[in-house]
Amino acid sequence: MTYDYLIIGAGLFGSVTSYCLFRSGKKCLLIDKRPHIGGNVYTESINGINVHKYGAHIFHTSNRRVWDFVNSFVEFNRYTNSPVANYKGKLYNLPFNMNTFYQMWGVTTPEEAAERIEKQRKESGIVNPKNLEEQAISLIGKDIYYTLIKGYTEKQWGRKATELPAFIIKRLPVRFTFDNNYFNDKYQGIPIGGYTALIEKMLEGVEVRLGTDYLGDKSYFDSIADKVIYTGEIDRYFDYCFGHLEYRTVRFETELLEGVANFQGNAVVNYTDADTPYTRIIEHKHFEFGQQPDTVISREYSAEWKPGDEPYYPVNDERNSTLYRRYKELADAQDKVVFGGRLAEYKYYDMHQVIESAWKQVDKLLHTSYNE
Ligand SMILES: Cc1cc2nc3c(=O)[nH]c(=O)nc-3n(C[C@H](O)[C@H](O)[C@H](O)COP(=O)(O)OP(=O)(O)OC[C@H]3O[C@@H](n4cnc5c(N)ncnc54)[C@H](O)[C@@H]3O)c2cc1C
Repeated sequence: MTYDYLIIGAGLFGSVTSYCLFRSGKKCLLIDKRPHIGGNVYTESINGINVHKYGAHIFHTSNRRVWDFVNSFVEFNRYTNSPVANYKGKLYNLPFNMNTFYQMWGVTTPEEAAERIEKQRKESGIVNPKNLEEQAISLIGKDIYYTLIKGYTEKQWGRKATELPAFIIKRLPVRFTFDNNYFNDKYQGIPIGGYTALIEKMLEGVEVRLGTDYLGDKSYFDSIADKVIYTGEIDRYFDYCFGHLEYRTVRFETELLEGVANFQGNAVVNYTDADTPYTRIIEHKHFEFGQQPDTVISREYSAEWKPGDEPYYPVNDERNSTLYRRYKELADAQDKVVFGGRLAEYKYYDMHQVIESAWKQVDKLLHTSYNE
């Protein structure tokens, strides 16, 4: 055999496993069908601005080892995600905090804000919420729901909030402090120079072939390596024998605005009304505090997925969960191939979680305890 390991997919899962295996002295080949490394975290430079091509990515973790790991390749900046919501031209801070409550009601103390929310929750009279709308109102009251949740959620899911199940919103975190930091994690930031620079560093020394579809010549690729790590779609691997797994997808309309140095003053602005067709506008330069004379923005449109579209978010309903379990049974029966990452496990992973999961996989393969 030419290689100990053939790794399919140069996203974060494939890149982390390649790095660990290569460092352990294994001979590895990493291939990706796309013409670039990085998978969905890939950033491309447009007029000197790192554009998050497959959607905005903000790294956050409370795991010190994960944070040290990513920072050992490139330095991360101090970016803190503080999205702003635009509802019919009026701006509100997110996540829901004292700034939001001041903007919504003019209240200035935590006590007044808590009273407002409690009053609206009681007035709703909802005890057993039957759908997402009732669930949200019973948790936070009607003002926040109608201004900041309803329109956004309906655009995201392409369905009325009264037709969505209540369990989608389990809780709505509320902060009674003036803190606009979206994440609660200990560490957060963006790799200076973009995610592509991070992955490039991680893959130094690893043999990589791009624009190469493993399933286009599976028997050849299987013949050149002892073991295969597959991070592509699990249903595609098995030729959709049980049918397609479904996803929600996002369409990005990306625009270079030449001569505009600052379009919206923030990396992320959510449009929470029903009439604006997009859910968010991302202004990429603000992830890295860019001072370029131009800017690049992406409008995000949430869309129903159909075969051939980019698969973004798995749909964890009964049909898809059952279908995935059937594919997983087939996957577990393969002895040469292991399945990992968001597409092969049909699972939403944040970046820090996919790194932890890749470490676990390496531990299993090498009988080490890298992840402890
Ligand atoms: C819109 C969006 C926004 C997100 N924002 C954040 C965020 O802010 N913070 C965060 O922590 N996480 C975020 N995530 C999650 C993050 O994108 C994932 O954790 C990460 O990309 C998963 O990496 P992966 O390697 O599993 O998958 P991928 O990045 O999808 O990599 C899989 C790779 O396999 C390749 N491949 C598939 N099949 C084949 C084949 N047959 N042959 C060759 N190559 C193949 C694909 O081309 C792809 O490059 C976001 C996800 C989405 C969808």
